[in-house]
Amino acid sequence: MDKSKKIKYKLKKNDQVKIISGKNIGNTGRILKLDKEKGTVIIEGQNLVKKAMRQKKQTQKGGIVEIEAGIKISNVMLVCKKCGPTRIGFVIKDDKKSRICRKCREEIA
Ligand SMILES: [Zn+2]
Repeated sequence: MDKSKKIKYKLKKNDQVKIISGKNIGNTGRILKLDKEKGTVIIEGQNLVKKAMRQKKQTQKGGIVEIEAGIKISNVMLVCKKCGPTRIGFVIKDDKKSRICRKCREEIA
């Protein structure tokens, strides 16, 4: 077994996802960042946490800012334009692997 082998994630940046667990349950948003090391995603406008920023430059304002904190990948589900939150499947077409919705078999861009 190759322990260094990375887990394959089905989600990608800019995917529309629904949060299915945690305090933001039911919310949807777009993936801004996928952190494969931590297994988390940053979703636009979701899971905001207050963070104290130190003033670095004269022009920069210090103080409290709200930033998006990571949400576990297992807590989000991809949203299909047709059927809503869905599981992702794969098909091989013309030697290319593409993602499909497991409900309507529609390709996910
Ligand atoms: Zn679908």
